Amino acid sequence: MNDKYDVVIGLEVHAELKTNSKVFCACANKYGSEPNTNCCPICIGLPGALPVLNKQAVKSTIKAGLCMGCEINDIAVFERKNYFYPDLSKAYQISQLVKPICVGGGVYVNNGTKFIRLDRIHLEEDAGKLVHKSEQVGTLIDYNRGGVPLIEMVSMPDMSNADEAIEFLTQLRSNLIYAGIAECKMEQGGMRCDVNISIKKKGSTELGTRTEMKNLNSFKSVARAIEYETQRQIELVENGETVLQETRRWDDERGKSFSLRTKETSQDYRYFPDPDLLSVKIERSLVDEIKKTIPMLPKQRKELYINEYGLTEYDADVLTTDKEISDFYNECLTVYKEPKKVCNWVMTELLKYVEKTEENINIPIGYENFANIIKMVDSNQIGQSNAKKLIEMCFGTEKTAMELAKENNMLNDINADEVEEMVKKVIADNPKAVEDYKVNGDKVLTFFLGQVMRLSKGKAQANVVRELLIKLLG
Ligand SMILES: [Zn+2]
Repeated sequence: MNDKYDVVIGLEVHAELKTNSKVFCACANKYGSEPNTNCCPICIGLPGALPVLNKQAVKSTIKAGLCMGCEINDIAVFERKNYFYPDLSKAYQISQLVKPICVGGGVYVNNGTKFIRLDRIHLEEDAGKLVHKSEQVGTLIDYNRGGVPLIEMVSMPDMSNADEAIEFLTQLRSNLIYAGIAECKMEQGGMRCDVNISIKKKGSTELGTRTEMKNLNSFKSVARAIEYETQRQIELVENGETVLQETRRWDDERGKSFSLRTKETSQDYRYFPDPDLLSVKIERSLVDEIKKTIPMLPKQRKELYINEYGLTEYDADVLTTDKEISDFYNECLTVYKEPKKVCNWVMTELLKYVEKTEENINIPIGYENFANIIKMVDSNQIGQSNAKKLIEMCFGTEKTAMELAKENNMLNDINADEVEEMVKKVIADNPKAVEDYKVNGDKVLTFFLGQVMRLSKGKAQANVVRELLIKLLG
């Protein structure tokens, strides 16, 4: 059925900024505190309390905009978005409508073939959190999150399937993390996403009615919600019914979306400039200064890895997916500048030990030890298999790889004569395998090679042993 319709998807992505204090008061911007301990008259909106804008939050928003290729407005205005909900004690949220800090920009998806435009990035305050308890207790409210600086990144309706939406999200997220603007811990609500979807007849320019699903907090639920909602709308249209403009709630456990309310328009919020806050003049010199603090972002790192270091697209992708891994790789190159070799070792001998959760990445070995081990292999100071053991020995130790290699008698300290003796001994000890070698060749050679390596405790060089074996076995 899907070949009759185009799917049109736009995303509104919220990310909490990493700042010391909240956006309009001095309360701590900290996750996981006792409920209602990071609050003051300003962020819970007591009458007469006056907001003061956090400069760091403005700078971070500008930085986010520069990372996504946005224009930065000269003047930004904060407005009140009026609505009532218990998590918003002021009954209005300070946000931006007409003059956001950043406009335009966007990121590429589908291997750089499709540009997803951003409409804007604006700065606003987060709301508190409703905590649903048992029936007796009811629902409690924690205002710690109220007033935490939040950026909203609004895309144009440029995506046409779940894959593009996920790639778009991934790029926004990794840009923010690489630039140190936000942590985007999705499980903690540090990044949330609203999805707007409509369908239209293939090739038609007329947009269908869109629905919005709010506060999706994992990539998986975004993908599932898009699939489900697309199918639901197609079925409605096919059955001659109409899609209503409404806000829907995605229930991840049941894999369904439910109508929440008919969609309000921006007029319903009665936006008006907040009389307690002056408009913000953003100097070009400040923007230029911030521009200088932006590190190399994943897209640029990937290009560097491919074009300068000669890595494959796949390897470059894997290395840049997480900033910690990419940083580790870069640091290794400061010790041993062999990009391809280091890449191979990272891919095969490091990543399997890396523990990754949505919250954290734990690399169990320091870059100096890791790079030095590769160096030792390449200079024939240590054999491959000993090197692999040595990597594990470095976990959780202060010692250097060289110290550990010496302590454990792993360095290649046998001479050519000794190796030849070992090869001869293995041949003499295995007459049956010698016969077998005449028939099965290479397969049996691997057996001999293994025996010699074991005898030498991994210290012989495999290529030397191999040549000797071929020569002596005739
Ligand atoms: Zn406060």
